[in-house]
Amino acid sequence: GTFMTMTEEKQIGQVEVQESQILFTDKDSGQIYKTGVMDDPDLIYRLKDSGAVFASEIVEQMSPFLSFLLSWLLPILIFVGLGQLMSRRMMNKAGGPNSMMFGAGRSSAKIYVKSAEGIKFSDVAGEDEAKESLTEIVEYLHNPGKYREIGASMPKGILLVGPPGTGKTMLAKAVAGEASVPFFSISGSEFVEMFVGMGASKVRDLFRQAKEKAPCIVFIDEIDAIGKKRDGQMGGNDEREQTLNQLLTEMDGFEGNTGVIILAATNRPESLDPALTRPGRFDRRVPVELPDLKGREEILKVHAKKIKVADDVDFRQIARMASGASGAELANIINEAALRAVRDGRRFATQSDLEESIEVVIAGYQKKNAILTDKEKWTVAYHEIGHALVAAKQNHSAPVQKITIIPRTSGALGYTMQVEEGNHYLMTKEEIENKIATYTGGRAAEEVVFGTISTGASNDIEQATKLARAMITRYGMSRDFDMVALETVRNQYLGGDASLTCSGETAAEVDRQVVELVKKQHEKAASILLENREKLDELAKFLYEKETITGEEFMQILNK
Ligand code: ADP
Repeated sequence: GTFMTMTEEKQIGQVEVQESQILFTDKDSGQIYKTGVMDDPDLIYRLKDSGAVFASEIVEQMSPFLSFLLSWLLPILIFVGLGQLMSRRMMNKAGGPNSMMFGAGRSSAKIYVKSAEGIKFSDVAGEDEAKESLTEIVEYLHNPGKYREIGASMPKGILLVGPPGTGKTMLAKAVAGEASVPFFSISGSEFVEMFVGMGASKVRDLFRQAKEKAPCIVFIDEIDAIGKKRDGQMGGNDEREQTLNQLLTEMDGFEGNTGVIILAATNRPESLDPALTRPGRFDRRVPVELPDLKGREEILKVHAKKIKVADDVDFRQIARMASGASGAELANIINEAALRAVRDGRRFATQSDLEESIEVVIAGYQKKNAILTDKEKWTVAYHEIGHALVAAKQNHSAPVQKITIIPRTSGALGYTMQVEEGNHYLMTKEEIENKIATYTGGRAAEEVVFGTISTGASNDIEQATKLARAMITRYGMSRDFDMVALETVRNQYLGGDASLTCSGETAAEVDRQVVELVKKQHEKAASILLENREKLDELAKFLYEKETITGEEFMQILNK
């Protein structure tokens, strides 16, 4: 109405017809009005007649208050808000609660305090030497003054080296538990991020946190992930090197007696950068080896406390059977035994549960429905007795513990479990040769009895060859090469692959000698079996019928 009236009274100053509205001004006051569009084709002419000016930019003015708010207060508010966020981020870095968005450069070290984990040295069985070295650290954390007084400084870093599953992580936690100090744990691979530079900032962050919480223990697991030698090759891993450099700098940066002790674990000490292992950084190395017989027994006992076992379980016997097992495997054996007891409806684990679970861990579960033909079963029986008989007849070889021809899920159709009576630290040349003969005994028995051979000996062949090769290339037990190393071992704790370090001709000669050595032992095994053919038949028949025989049964028949 106002619009129409003003048009008629020629009161309109400017007008702008937009798609959805019409804006117009009062000629005298300049006041802006707006109204809806109307479907009136003549409107334009009437407006023109009224003397209105068609404009294109009549701006709706905001109220002065609103415009003040928008132009002054809003920017200030935005800046204040940003400032708050930034300062919160800084606080986070200083150890505040984790913030999802800005936490990218923080170290994700988990903190354990004594009460939460509570692992003590008594929980770590065996490993007495390692514990002894680490006790000093605990002592120091308890009473640093005693050390400062005399001017001694603790090593900044201690490297725990050993095969997987021997309790390195446990030992580090136990040090923290015994000393009742905070324990930061982080894995080497966690430092290496998708974004370059993050690793270095995480290292900085970790050390800052640690220094704030000192005295404390920082544990870096799998340190070889960042501590590998810097080889300077093209296309090297920049991120990793930056992280390592930062670690080196940080370790130099803090004083010896601040109370921050860094423990690190690795399976590949030889691949670590020399700068990392020099005195002043990781200057102490604590080997954590596979447990010996006594150690295995103790580890079994520690873990057996967690489950119900029969009173008459002979842990020494189990430990003897599980030769070469790591702490983690022994823990697994105990757990498997408990599972088996439950499966069979018993209320506690018995000796046979434990024995069976060793075999499960070594060779896999029994394959209940594997059907061997009669011929195959005889072949396997002779093969296994062949191993055992050759082992028993050479007086240097350990007696057998158990022979079985029940197929396992690992693919083994049968196996002979040898038992070492005590610990062996050295092996003589004869002992290794006898061992090779024992490996070849299975195949030899097939030849002697059936006059033909099968595929069943592939694993024996591998083992025998490995030993024979090591004798020549590493132990200097051949006539021709004397005490010359022809191979170097890498990854000592991870299977120990070896690489040849000799000329092609020498390698060919080594191959020839390896063949000769194995052949000689193979012939020896065959002749032992031929000499004892009757015993071989008798034992194989017994095994064929019973499927599993113990070492005592075996020796009884042999000595009859
Ligand atoms: P690593 O760090 O050397 O690979 P861990 O310390 O993680 O091995 O050990 C793995 C598991 O094995 C432990 O949780 C523990 O159950 C068992 N274990 C290993 N060594 C021992 C030991 N000496 N005493 C008791 N348990 C052990």
